Amino acid sequence: MKVQNVCVLGSTGSIGVSTLDVIARHPGRYRAYALSAYSRIDKLVAQALASGARIVVVPNDTAAQRFRSLWPSGRQMPEVRVGPEALAATAADAEINIVMAAIVGTAGLPAALAAAQAGKRVLLANKEALVAAGELFMQAVRNHGAELLPIDSEHNAIFQCLPEDEDRARAPERPARGVRRLLLTASGGPFRTTELAALRDVTPDQACAHPNWSMGRKISVDSATMLNKGLEVIEAHWLFSMEPDSIQVLIHPQSLVHSMVEYVDGSILAQLGQPDMRTPIAYGLGFPERIASGVGLFDLMRMQKLDFEPPEPGRFPCLGLAYDALRAGQSSCINLNAANEVAVDRFLSGGIRYTEIPQIIGDCLDRMEAFNSTTPQTLEDILEQDRRARAVAAELCMLRA
Ligand code: NAD
Ligand code: MG
Repeated sequence: MKVQNVCVLGSTGSIGVSTLDVIARHPGRYRAYALSAYSRIDKLVAQALASGARIVVVPNDTAAQRFRSLWPSGRQMPEVRVGPEALAATAADAEINIVMAAIVGTAGLPAALAAAQAGKRVLLANKEALVAAGELFMQAVRNHGAELLPIDSEHNAIFQCLPEDEDRARAPERPARGVRRLLLTASGGPFRTTELAALRDVTPDQACAHPNWSMGRKISVDSATMLNKGLEVIEAHWLFSMEPDSIQVLIHPQSLVHSMVEYVDGSILAQLGQPDMRTPIAYGLGFPERIASGVGLFDLMRMQKLDFEPPEPGRFPCLGLAYDALRAGQSSCINLNAANEVAVDRFLSGGIRYTEIPQIIGDCLDRMEAFNSTTPQTLEDILEQDRRARAVAAELCMLRA
């Protein structure tokens, strides 16, 4: 089998690092061909040296200079490409077979979409891309013969529990046959049992201390508020053509059942595993084959029990906001995601309180409603509306500061 060239967008992040770990276990099968980073250029240098990547993409000339200055003499330097256009062009590069979309936020959308439009196998971790541009993205996969493998652990679990249809990575337009409901599990995050009155004063570090998963800071805060699960409901709607009423969220604090599919005959299929993203990453790389991921044996006998409970609406108002946005349509989903990115960023830098995150999202959705009359159709329309919603959310944050 010919070695598959992989482009890892966001290689310095949590998913990026796990992806490089899996790739390195299969040197005859995959090669990390292109890497991208936004801020940690020293880490990018180390990754490029270890993997022998041919191309690196950095955001600006300063970062490019830094990369070159840190590169050791005597080693062949990768081609250094600069800026968002280069990122999208690299994702579509003819030499590349597989693109891991692991940039955080809408910033990752143009490159992920470019990969789909170039007919690549796209491993999608960047859920915000699908939330902002669901229809456009799925159509690009269909129209350009791409393959879409969900990496988000819940969606990867659902994908694994669906009927073994050869075309299930080709963005099917209808729900898989016989499926009644999708059951998305959520850990409940670090504040599942915290007294409600205490949530006002939680710090960014507390919000990022996820009980089961080690992840980037933005998604960690999203997991605490459960806006992450809301984004995942929207993501599941697009990936699996399921209506909001057929997607149920349940809290499962042990994070071992990664999600389930309920069929019309009453059967429920679940995927279990350790909370380690290398499992879904290896699944996406190898599909339909199974390849080793480095994840060790899972001792079910040590598990005392598996709990399931409903999410409390008063504790997790973001989840309801996301269902509302999905029912309202694409524009509202863009607004929801943009407002959340701004609010989480402000919370992480100490500008607003944790409990203000849902308030800002809710207020932004209300304020933006007037602009929602036309559904954005193109990438430019989507990014324009994303910018507008960000400006409104930033203003709402200022008013509260
Ligand atoms: P992270 O913060 O650890 O890494 C983000 C990566 O994106 C970094 O490489 C960073 O350099 C790059 N980046 C950030 N801003 C950028 C910009 N403006 N332009 C270009 N590159 C930029 O995040 P993560 O935890 O690895 O998550 C990445 C994506 O995967 C997110 O969309 C997240 O929701 C999703 N995801 C993550 C996990 C997980 O376990 N970490 C699980 C499921 C889904
Ligand atoms: Mg997830």
